[in-house]
Amino acid sequence: MWLATGAVWLKAEAQPVGWTWEGQREQIPPEFRWAEMLTIPKPIYDQVIEHLQSAYPKEGCGILGGKGNRVTTWYPMANTENSPVSYLMSPKEQLQVMKRMREDQVEILAIVHSHVASAAYPSSHDVAMAFYPDVAYIVVSLADRAKPEAKSYLIRDGKISEDGLQVV
Ligand SMILES: [Zn+2]
Repeated sequence: MWLATGAVWLKAEAQPVGWTWEGQREQIPPEFRWAEMLTIPKPIYDQVIEHLQSAYPKEGCGILGGKGNRVTTWYPMANTENSPVSYLMSPKEQLQVMKRMREDQVEILAIVHSHVASAAYPSSHDVAMAFYPDVAYIVVSLADRAKPEAKSYLIRDGKISEDGLQVV
């Protein structure tokens, strides 16, 4: 009895104390990141690409909602800058999307936009406009329109780190 109780106690003590998954994603060793990786179902990913292609040759944008790391909903949005080199979501449409996310009971997981001629990497303007440290920024390059390339980043205090992204 004592041994069994002791073993349970030891096991409980062996758990890391004070570890939080939130905000520490980049510190997780690569072999464990599959559990953390932002996961987008293929049908939703296809809708994202379709919307960004329809905005071409201007940048397109939108928001992905879901729970945990699993995307469940896509909210295509208008690029009010209507520009090939930048994007801006109107405050009015953002409020509408936030309201719909509450109704759908999902959280904001990622902000998506396209680059029509450059790589899938945040521009300095993107970094300056990144106000959400816990939301993934997905950049989709349509430099080769036939082969869209999507990459996900965390942008914190002006620093860019690539985050995992898987389409399943
Ligand atoms: Zn950009």
